[in-house]
Amino acid sequence: MGKELNPCGNIFDIQGFSVHDGPGCRTLIFLKGCTMQCFWCSNPEGIHPKPEPIYFHSKCILDKNCIEACGHNAISTNGSRIEIDRTICHRCGDFKCVENCFTGALKTNGKKITMKELTATIQRDRQYWGEKGGITLTGGEPLLQIEFTESLLRECYNAFIHTAIETCGNVPQNHYKRIAPYTEWIIFDLKHMDDTDHKRGTGISNSQVLNNAAWLAENFEGKLLFRLPLIPGFNDSNENIDATAAFLTRIGIHEINVLPLHHLGREKYRMLDLTYTADNTKLSTPEHLDKIQNRFVDKGIDCWVGADTPF
Ligand code: SF4
Ligand code: SF4
Repeated sequence: MGKELNPCGNIFDIQGFSVHDGPGCRTLIFLKGCTMQCFWCSNPEGIHPKPEPIYFHSKCILDKNCIEACGHNAISTNGSRIEIDRTICHRCGDFKCVENCFTGALKTNGKKITMKELTATIQRDRQYWGEKGGITLTGGEPLLQIEFTESLLRECYNAFIHTAIETCGNVPQNHYKRIAPYTEWIIFDLKHMDDTDHKRGTGISNSQVLNNAAWLAENFEGKLLFRLPLIPGFNDSNENIDATAAFLTRIGIHEINVLPLHHLGREKYRMLDLTYTADNTKLSTPEHLDKIQNRFVDKGIDCWVGADTPF
């Protein structure tokens, strides 16, 4: 890979051997920071842009080393576990709490990684991908770190590595213009067509999201795949499915990938002292998913559910 690389990005995970986030077998790179706060998010550790302490309760022996080490008095105990007051913690960056936890109960979620380190990992994984594989940048919202993301995509693209990103759509349009020449797949979430409901579920308006979706549909030359994270009681009404289908038709797109809600991220909220407000949201039944799929198909939109896709 070449020189002149933007030096550092902030990531919270790298996963090899993924088969659900783009074609073939892929290495996923999770970048930290997102502009949305979707109440069902399964990667809450990707929302805050800065590294932060994360707590593994089962490893904690309550010796209180972390409480004494934190110079900001952000940590207390309720007798059975420690609690970090995140309004005081402010992710101070010196991580004395983590440094003084010898059991591994406190770790740092998120780290800076140099382009050199990351590209070395990518090159190592490359031999396992097979024909169609590559990298997928996800998060969080990978386009929030536009300098790093653009550099990484460009380097990989120029090294003949297949490049994909997953995006929430809520970033300036210019970011898409910058990465488009080096990106083969864009996987783009549509969460709700109604602006008030979109704000209720994600904390932000959908206007920039829809503008970007329309711009990409017209201008992006690679594969543009829209995804609907299906959240029962939030965006699964007939009205929203019909509005989503109508929007896709209007911008010239005729397929969608519906991703059913799961609760696998629930425990991570507790580890970050966050509240998982989707806890009581029921999961979709197979019948419900069939109904949604048929409704899209009836409107002229090919609909793939979950990992059951042709790619
Ligand atoms: S230092 Fe680690 S093991 Fe000790 S109380 Fe804190 S989190 Fe638990
Ligand atoms: S990250 Fe810093 S402020 Fe936050 S709990 Fe740890 S030592 Fe205290």
